[in-house]
Amino acid sequence: MKRDLLVKEAMRTKILTCSPSDTVKKVAKSMRKNKVGSSIVISKRKPIGIITESDILGKVVAEGRDANKVKVEEVMSTPLITIDPYVTIEDAMKIMSKHNIRRLPVVEKGKLTGIVTEKDLFRISPALLEISKEWSLIEGALPTVSSQISIFGKCEGCGKLSADLVEIDGKFLCEDCREG
Ligand SMILES: [Zn+2]
Repeated sequence: MKRDLLVKEAMRTKILTCSPSDTVKKVAKSMRKNKVGSSIVISKRKPIGIITESDILGKVVAEGRDANKVKVEEVMSTPLITIDPYVTIEDAMKIMSKHNIRRLPVVEKGKLTGIVTEKDLFRISPALLEISKEWSLIEGALPTVSSQISIFGKCEGCGKLSADLVEIDGKFLCEDCREG
């Protein structure tokens, strides 16, 4: 049987990053220039969120807001779910379905090393498209193995940046707040 492809083999290593205080206009320009659909938001060297074309269209353009004035942190998606590079692309697809996201930044040993998108995975493995349609019908049937992902962002308990958030009762909490 063919070995399952790993995220590491399917990811793009060209990643665009921006800062939370950048304007949406600046990021949109750099996305267009680099022909990518998203930019990862980095604060204090940690990925804390992601801004995508659809964030810009839906939260800025469609709302008639001025892209020169809106800052990335106002419209980015956060917290950020990231994936380990040694997870299979099938599991990556499951994680995307479960969390209803189309891209997963790849983090190895705390360092951002790439990104996988739903589109790329479908291209590499068209069979995944059929499987993912079935998954989407089975609600709650896709457990995520916690070692496969990390959640980066601001703790909703203490406000600190953390690379180890866990969702508890709908709130993303850091290690300290989970124990407290
Ligand atoms: Zn906390």
